[in-house]
Amino acid sequence: MSIHKVEGIVLKTQPFRSSSLIVTFFTKEAGKIRGVVKGVHREGEIRQAGFEIFTRAEIIFYEKRRSDLHLISDAAILESNDPIRNRLESIVYGSYFCELVDELTEVQDPHPEIFELLRTAFRFLSVVPPEKLTTVFTVKLLGAMGWIPYTDGCVSCGARPLEKGYFSVKQGALLCEACRSKDGGAPAITPVALALLRVFIRNEMRECLEHSHFSYALNEVQRLLTQFLNFRIGKVLRTKRFIDSVRSALVK
Ligand SMILES: [Zn+2]
Repeated sequence: MSIHKVEGIVLKTQPFRSSSLIVTFFTKEAGKIRGVVKGVHREGEIRQAGFEIFTRAEIIFYEKRRSDLHLISDAAILESNDPIRNRLESIVYGSYFCELVDELTEVQDPHPEIFELLRTAFRFLSVVPPEKLTTVFTVKLLGAMGWIPYTDGCVSCGARPLEKGYFSVKQGALLCEACRSKDGGAPAITPVALALLRVFIRNEMRECLEHSHFSYALNEVQRLLTQFLNFRIGKVLRTKRFIDSVRSALVK
């Protein structure tokens, strides 16, 4: 077994046997890592030991050769991200970011930009509207995975510039009016939503968050991205279902 020291953000903690945990974290150096922590299972212990969700810590683990479940020996807290825990809303959205990263990434596939994205998103989570942050976070995460929606022109015939069109969820790309039949289920995207999506694709997270927009355009971009994600993942995430149910209860 080789020993490693990495910097990681806790994505998930699950009880394991009577007195241990399985912790999933996303590291700067090695991507997603899963490991067993022995002798820690009560809530207070988990928090103190640096294995609570959202915590950024320096982690020491022993790498198992024949399993992707390693042995974690220690975590030194670098940033507890407590402001996220102060409001139910930021807990819920922060949990969604963690579940999305966990779902989209493979173990031990390094993506330092995803680590930085998560770290930045946590910093903004208690200060900016979570809906907008979530949309920008999703675009940036898709970019890091190489799944950024193609919006330069029609993916089928190459027609451009395209100021309105249809968004093929299956292809993650735009289709023009003439090519819509290639994906009959592709929903229309309005010019304002398309322009906003392009802003999110082309700019850094901070600039995207500062960019002013119409709320209906943001809703439209968010809806299309959710459909695209659900198609790629093949299911609706648990935390996303929760967000949607809370949102619809608030609207009623
Ligand atoms: Zn076309």
